[in-house]
Amino acid sequence: MLKIGQFECHSIETSEFGLDGGAMFGIIPKPLWEKKIPADSQNRIPMVTRSLLLISDNKKILVDTGNGTKWSEKLKHIYNIKTDRYNMESGLGNLGISSNEITDVICTHLHFDHIGGNTKWEDGKIVPTFPNAKYWMPKENLDLAKHPSQKDQGSFMEQDWKVLEENGMIQIVDGTSPFLEGIDFILTHGHTKGMLHPIISDGTQTLFYGADIIPSSAHIPIPWIMAYDIDPVLTVDEKAKLLPKMLDENWIIFFEHDQKVQAGTLKQEGKHFSLDKEIVISG
Ligand SMILES: [Zn+2]
Repeated sequence: MLKIGQFECHSIETSEFGLDGGAMFGIIPKPLWEKKIPADSQNRIPMVTRSLLLISDNKKILVDTGNGTKWSEKLKHIYNIKTDRYNMESGLGNLGISSNEITDVICTHLHFDHIGGNTKWEDGKIVPTFPNAKYWMPKENLDLAKHPSQKDQGSFMEQDWKVLEENGMIQIVDGTSPFLEGIDFILTHGHTKGMLHPIISDGTQTLFYGADIIPSSAHIPIPWIMAYDIDPVLTVDEKAKLLPKMLDENWIIFFEHDQKVQAGTLKQEGKHFSLDKEIVISG
């Protein structure tokens, strides 16, 4: 288990799912990406949703909540969503933690595969999964989620935040002011507007939550970006700025969607960045 400053860091896989490999790798030709992650018969690549749990003396903070469990059979089938092997309840349960104990949920952005687990069905109603938590959301992305573009409206589902808003459980993050001792944020705007990346650091070790700018170890090279991005040119610029800094300062990147690799550090050969050392956060 990784410990950074006051925080014990845990990796919790909350579901398996699959998205179209072409959409996940944008302009990269299939003969290249399929060597990294082979596709299934429907051209989907296997992925997971992976949350980061940070435990200190007085906080239990989750970063993102994955696909959750509110899925119709039709959508489960399209996205190949499975929660039998991994799910939030058993992930927390294995650590002896109940959902009532979570104090804070940091939502990187409001796409369904990142905040679907914010809420759940209970007795025919949608209720907060973490009844005692504050749910921290980036303002710009919440605004976009309420008024999405035609391109990304399929990625937002109101059921993931409406009941939280009604119950006054949402806290807005601007992404520029300090959050908590040992946790800062970086905002990026290429994948979606105002995506929040928590950075956990004690000055010696730094863990960067990759969210959808570096969702897997295969997405480290600068041009390997998703076709889902609302501004792919900006994503490339953002990666081109971030990667040299991450390498210089030996940051550990947390891969939210990588089926196999929880986290890792970077190396550079010429202009090409790739995974150097795999890091097991926990499990
Ligand atoms: Zn996303």
